[in-house]
This record gives sequence, structure tokens and C-alpha cells, in this order.
Amino acid sequence: MIKKTFHGGYYFNCEDKPREKVIESVLPPMVVIPLKQGFGREVKPLVTVGDKVKAGQIIGRDDHGVSSPVHASINGNVERITKLKYSTGPINAVIITADSNPDWQPLAGNNRNWQLLSLEKIETLLYSSGATSLDSKGIPTRFKTSSNVGRDVSDLIIQGIEDRPYNLSLPALLAGERCTHFIEGIKILQKIMPRANIHLAINRNRREIKRELIQKTEDLKWLTFYSLPPRYPQGNDRVLAATILGKRDRKTVDAEGIAVLSVGTVLNVHDAVVEGKPVIETIIALCGPGWKENINIRVRVGTPIETITGIYLDQTNSNWMIIPNNPLTSGALADFSLPVDRTITSLTAVSKNIKVQRPWSLLSAISPLKGRGCSPNIYDEVKPCIFCGYCEEICPAGIIPHLIDKYARRNIISNELIRYGIFECVECNLCSYICPSKIPVARHIKLGQQRLIEYGFTEPEAGLKEDTVEKYCLGQEG
Ligand code: SF4
Ligand code: SF4
Repeated sequence: MIKKTFHGGYYFNCEDKPREKVIESVLPPMVVIPLKQGFGREVKPLVTVGDKVKAGQIIGRDDHGVSSPVHASINGNVERITKLKYSTGPINAVIITADSNPDWQPLAGNNRNWQLLSLEKIETLLYSSGATSLDSKGIPTRFKTSSNVGRDVSDLIIQGIEDRPYNLSLPALLAGERCTHFIEGIKILQKIMPRANIHLAINRNRREIKRELIQKTEDLKWLTFYSLPPRYPQGNDRVLAATILGKRDRKTVDAEGIAVLSVGTVLNVHDAVVEGKPVIETIIALCGPGWKENINIRVRVGTPIETITGIYLDQTNSNWMIIPNNPLTSGALADFSLPVDRTITSLTAVSKNIKVQRPWSLLSAISPLKGRGCSPNIYDEVKPCIFCGYCEEICPAGIIPHLIDKYARRNIISNELIRYGIFECVECNLCSYICPSKIPVARHIKLGQQRLIEYGFTEPEAGLKEDTVEKYCLGQEG
């Protein structure tokens, strides 16, 4: 096992994390299935109003575009096809009303002895399941499902770091037989990316899980095991690639065929190929003080968020805001009627009036302190930079955020910004979070990047996105 780390970062130790068990949530009376979920383009609907559909049935696909099929997640009838208003633009969605049958139909051709399946069959199962749309670059198959090509992937990194303020925890994901399923999922991925070095990065504090995984993968000589500290943003694709492979540059990470997949995605790979299960469910961690209980729930994809808040949110206070996935990089949900899709793994409920407790020394900033709140830096008054250097010490990209901020916020757009490494920013928002003057440093850096591009400076290859939840959100301030 290899131990590594990176410069900068921050240990979060938030309270209000969910218990490690997964609770089955009730079947929703109605689901809203967006025709774009995760990596790739929106697909065309294959159903019309009044059609009877089965859970697991493909109701949207487009084999010609870079995309993955979407499925009915419940049995029922198509009530309507409508447009959902996301902040990034409208997406069509199929609304299905449920009958009372909770069953789902498996994909044709799955096999418990998946080793007997041809590569073509495995890739078809993965494509048909929708699992190929997960994570920042999708999973490569013979269909158009990723910016990577399977045979060209040089390194596959599996990410199990738990570095965010709130995570879907490894013990919840890998309980019981799921650990074995996870390892089978890795073996399936190795088959479709035969030239890839496979790296498994696990939170170093999860000793029992590490022990079990090491025992069960002893015979996998092609698998390299890494034990990494859960320091944010270790799980970010670029930071992880830099830590493991020594490649930090955005262009290099994209161009050299590096794939980063989460533990949850690997489990979906197993489920699709071995059990024929499409991605019709997602496990969501309910985090923060706003929920009656901090639990992990398994819900059907397409469940409206208001259905979840109606059951689990603390109704004694109407002042909660909900932040999907990473609270440092996502904004608050603009509309609770929007559905959960395949990409949502946590919903954090915090008070709209929260005042963020801020560290006033670097020592306190990097020491895990019980009870420290976490939230994007959007609440308090902005004051002038005091040149404390916290943002510089914490930045995982090794750049000087306050220096770039000085240029970017005054709209001084020049080659200096590139020389200072503005495009090396991995958009983790830590500089904004940590800044005692509450300066939205990361937002200024992003604006500086946009201005450079507008003025004709060459942009590096398209950046890796941590997830796609930004479409749900109000303007991001961090
Ligand atoms: S931008 Fe904020 S964190 Fe960075 S040096 Fe200035 S006051 Fe400190
Ligand atoms: S948002 Fe960018 S500049 Fe700020 S800490 Fe993260 S990588 Fe560094």
C-alpha cells in the first residue's frame, strides 16, 4: 500500500453526518425523469403521454450523440413530458405516475458469471444501464459515452477518499456483500480498459475497510492500493491525479486518458453487468442540522426533492436551504420541485441565517475541530485583504490566490494572470472558505479566467468538473 499526500487542503470535521446505515425510502407516487443526467447530452424521449412503462425500461436514448440512456425508475404511466428549468438551461423530463408495484425489470443479457460475457456484451450492458453517464468524464464503451476511449485509458483511478465536508460514507456504500460487489466492479472495469494501470485510493482512516479490501484483492497484481488522508480536495480529479501520478496540468490530465471513477460508480458497474440493474436508484446522505435525522436514504431516481424534504426535513423551521453534493462548490437549490438524478449523493440542509465560524489562525484552520460549521462563503460582509496568506497555504493548486485575486477583481487582465497559474485553479473554493476577510477569491479567479478567454488568451483543454449539480443552483458566490 502506498501512502501519498498533496500540498495544502483542509480537514473538515462537520457534525450532522449521517449514520452509516442505508434506509430504504418510500416509493414516490410520481417521478420526474430528466432526459439528461450526468455526463453527455440530453437524449430523445422514446415514450409518449399515456404509455405504460416499467421500472428499468429505457425511456430516452440517442445512440448518435455523446450520451447514455435514461430509464423509468418506477412502474406506472407517462403523465406528461415537460421542461425543467435549471439555472444552466431547460432540460426535458418525463413525468411518470406510479402504480403500487415496486419491482424493476432487469437488462437483457446480464450474467453472474460475467467473465463469460464478451467485451461487446459488457459494454452494451454498461451503456444500457446508464452507468456510463456517471462521474466527470463518463465510462468509456464502444458507444459514445465518455471523452475517453477505453483501450486508450492509461490510468484508471478509483476514488474513495471522503474528503468533502459531507460524504456518502464508505461504510455505508461497502457494507456486507457490497465490498465483494465493488471488487467485481473493478475487475469488470479492468476488462474494458485493458491497458490501464488501476489505482484504488481509499481514505486512510477507514482501517477496517482497507484491511478487508487488501485481503480480498491480494491476487489482483494489476491493482495498486493507496491510503490517502481525507483532506479536501484530495478527491478532486486533478488533485488526485497529481497526487497519484504526479500530473497536475489540466491539459495533461485530459489528454493522457486518465479516468477517475467513484466507489458508487464502480458498484453501479457491478449491478449493471452482474444483476442487470439499471441506474434507477441513488443513495443520498442527508447532512447538516436541517434534517430530523442524519441518515442515508435509497431513493428512486426522479424523486422530487420536495418529496424528500416533506418526509425528512425538520419542519419546525422553514428557513432551511438545501445544497446538493459538495457544499463548497454548489449553491443552494433554487427549486425543491426539481428531482434527484443519478448524480446526487448528498443533500445538505443548513439555515439561511448561518454565520460561518471561521478559523483565525492557520493552526486552527488545519486542525479538525469538533462542531465547526461548513458552508459556502456567501453570508457576511467582505473586508479588505489583510495578506494573512491563509489562501496561499491552503491552495492545492500551488498558486497564490490573493495575488491573482488582486488582478482579477480589478479587471486587470494580462499575461501575468497566466504566469501566476490562474488556469491551474481546480475550483475547490477553499480560498473563499478560509478567507477571514470573506473575499470570494475563487469567484474572482473564475471571472479572471472567463475574461482571459473572452480576450483571446488560449484556454487549456476543457476542465474536469467534479459533478453536474451546478444546474440545480442559484448563482454560486464562492
Ligand atoms: S485573500 Fe483572504 S485569505 Fe488570502 S491573504 Fe487575503 S485576507 Fe488572507
Ligand atoms: S479555488 Fe482555486 S485558487 Fe482557490 S484554493 Fe482552490 S485551487 Fe486554489
